[in-house]
Amino acid sequence: MATISVNNVSKIYGDTVALDDVSFEISDGEFVVLLGPSGAGKSTLLRILNGLTTPTEGTVEFNGQVVDSMPTSDVGMVFQMHYLVEGLSAYKNALSGALSRSSTVGSLLNRFSEEDKRMALEALDTVGLLEEADQRASSMSGGQQQRVGIARALTQNPELLLADEPVASLDPKAAQDVMEYMRRAAMDRNLTSIVSLHQVNIAREFGDRFIGLNEGELIFDGDRDELTMDV
Ligand code: ADP
Ligand code: ADP
Repeated sequence: MATISVNNVSKIYGDTVALDDVSFEISDGEFVVLLGPSGAGKSTLLRILNGLTTPTEGTVEFNGQVVDSMPTSDVGMVFQMHYLVEGLSAYKNALSGALSRSSTVGSLLNRFSEEDKRMALEALDTVGLLEEADQRASSMSGGQQQRVGIARALTQNPELLLADEPVASLDPKAAQDVMEYMRRAAMDRNLTSIVSLHQVNIAREFGDRFIGLNEGELIFDGDRDELTMDV
C-alpha cells in the first residue's frame, strides 16, 4: 500500500523555480494523472517521488512518515524513453525489474529466484505480452516496448507506480493501448499510480483524478467533471 503527502514542496535549480510550494495528498490505490505543458515541473515532481532528487523546501510523507528521500525500491518507474535493453527478450527486460528490489550486486549475475521469474511472467501477462516473451525488445513496436517497460516496473513489485510521459512518443492508437494496460495493471494490483501526460484528451479517458501544474505551481486538483481543456 502507498499513501503520499506532498507538503509545500519547492524545488529550485539556480534561477529556475521548477516547483513552487506544491501540496497534495494521494490515497492508497488512487490513479492520478499529472498534467501540464513542457517545463511545468512534472518530471521534477516525479523525480522527487522516485527518490532521484530531494525538495529544496517542504516535505514528502510516504505511508504517513516524513521521508528524507523516497525509498527507491518501493517505487516502480516507467519512462518516456523506455530504456529497455534492445538486444534482450521482453522476458529478460521484464525480469530485470527484480534487480531494483534486491540490494546485492550478486543479483546482477543472473541469480534470479523462481519468485522473480514467476513475477516477470505474471507482469508480461498483465500487459498482454506473454506470447511475445521471447521476442527481442528491438523487434517490437513502440507501444509493445512501453508495455515491456510497464512489466519491468511491475516485476519490481512496487508500492507506487510512476510514469513520466509514457505515451508521448507513440501514435494515438498505441498511446490508448499503453494507457489501458497501465490502468488495468494499477487496478488489478491496487497500485497507487501517478502518470504524467500532456495530452488532455488521453488524460480525460484514463484518469480518476487530475493534478495540473504550470510553471511549477499547482493550478488544478480535481476529478474528470471539473477538468476543462485549459489545464
Ligand atoms: P516537465 O517535466 O513538466 O517538462 P521539468 O520538471 O522537466 O518539467 O522542468 C521544470 C523546470 O525546471 C524547467 O524550467 C526545467 O528546465 C528546469 N529543470 C528541470 N530539471 C533541472 C535540472 N536538473 N537543472 C536545472 N533546471 C532543471
Ligand atoms: P522533460 O522530458 O520532462 O521535458 P527535460 O528534457 O526537461 O525533461 O529534462 C531532461 C533531463 O535534463 C532531466 O534529467 C533534467 O533534470 C535535466 N534538465 C532539464 N532542464 C535542465 C536545465 N535547464 N539545466 C540542467 N539540466 C536540465
